[in-house]
Amino acid sequence: MVAGVAIGGGAPVVVQSMTNTDTADAIATALQVAQLFRAGSEIVRITVNTREAAAAVPRIREQLLKMDLRVPLVGDFHFNGHKLLEEEPSCAEALDKLRINPGNVGKGKKRDDQFARLIEIACKYDKPVRIGVNWGSLDQELLARIMDENAGRPHPLDAAELMREAMISSSLESAAKAEELGLAGNRIVLSCKVSGVQDLIGIYRDLAERSDYPLHLGLTEAGMGSKGIVASTAALAVMLQEGIGDTIRVSLTPEPNGDRSREVIVAQEILQTMGLRAFTPLVAACPGCGRTSSTVFQELAQDIQSYVREQMPAWRLLRVGVENMSLAVMGCVVNGPGESKHANIGISLPGTGETPVAPVYVDGQRSVTLKGENIAREFRAIIDDYVARKYQKRV
Ligand code: SF4
Repeated sequence: MVAGVAIGGGAPVVVQSMTNTDTADAIATALQVAQLFRAGSEIVRITVNTREAAAAVPRIREQLLKMDLRVPLVGDFHFNGHKLLEEEPSCAEALDKLRINPGNVGKGKKRDDQFARLIEIACKYDKPVRIGVNWGSLDQELLARIMDENAGRPHPLDAAELMREAMISSSLESAAKAEELGLAGNRIVLSCKVSGVQDLIGIYRDLAERSDYPLHLGLTEAGMGSKGIVASTAALAVMLQEGIGDTIRVSLTPEPNGDRSREVIVAQEILQTMGLRAFTPLVAACPGCGRTSSTVFQELAQDIQSYVREQMPAWRLLRVGVENMSLAVMGCVVNGPGESKHANIGISLPGTGETPVAPVYVDGQRSVTLKGENIAREFRAIIDDYVARKYQKRV
């Protein structure tokens, strides 16, 4: 449980994201946290890398509360987390969870001491911990030890298997150490992120078999645009289908000045299209083909998807179950009426050579026929009317 959000134990898979602002800039960070939270991120992680950033964390919390937002905040610590949390105890108090990377806690003798200090702080302030291993910062001493052990095996592991084993061992040994130091097992979440799809699936399958801790999934350094979306979806979908994973993050690289909340929408869409959760009505639309001679239906599909996304925060407050509503925007008579009938509300636009009218279907029945310039506006009104009639008011 992180600030009221249940994790693991059969709870719904939780969507996470991370800010990319300078945490020391409390206002900018609070605004981005709010943006991610409003987009649907149920937990938001912020990096805490300097004394200034640590000092800003309580102010970020304050700003969020002024906006009336109780956002579960995770602090991401590397190298100096023990020091920052000791020097700025209000930072630990303001956070809901700590993320510790065992590969970046310290070297040699310092490692154990600094790890213990981090766990002591987590226990003192009653904060859960994610032990987040990343192959880009794997504990080199542990890797060397595992390579030595491997050399003595009758059938040594190959390089990929060795890396996988080192990552899993790093997370499990760190979790065991944290429990020895007094952190309750049910306050620990594990993750082992790599950037290759098959490696990630293999690691998490092993990890799920070898531990009972809740698992946070994510393909690290997924990349930009469609590459990042496809790679993340390919990896997460396989694991989610196998029942592996309790929280997810889609680590998309935004375009310069791009929208950070895109990663939240993609994470939601992965869960929703797999039928695991529902967040926002999704619009089914055909790809279009030679039977459509204009972009009208693409524009309408985009307009309606944006519209329902914009309306959803208000609908969610007022009505029960709107997120399950299904919509269809289709390009011509070939599959248009059929697909429209399967949706709660569907519209079939005229293809080339068809009569320029657009029949609308509501719960499988032909309802009205739209035509002319105002089809988008009239279709939105039909959706509003359906929401008001079909979904109970929240009390
Ligand atoms: S519904 Fe019509 S326009 Fe859309 S892909 Fe099928 S044939 Fe083409």
